[in-house]
Amino acid sequence: MLNSKRPKACVECGLPFGHSDFTYHAGRVEKGPAYWSDQGILCSHACSTAHFLRREKQGNPMTEPAPNPFEKRSIFD
Ligand SMILES: [Zn+2]
Repeated sequence: MLNSKRPKACVECGLPFGHSDFTYHAGRVEKGPAYWSDQGILCSHACSTAHFLRREKQGNPMTEPAPNPFEKRSIFD
């Protein structure tokens, strides 16, 4: 199930979306995050990997690509 909380920060390290260290799609904040899961957005490849490994450890692996939260405009509404 999708998390109903709107993604506003990296779910792994808590870096806020909009921070200059956040990795954006095509390098542009208005394009949205470069990494995300069904649980929220991820700031970097490192956090994406950490998130994937944590989910596997917890027995809750990501089994399919998560929907892009920006395509649903869940951050901007
Ligand atoms: Zn992070």
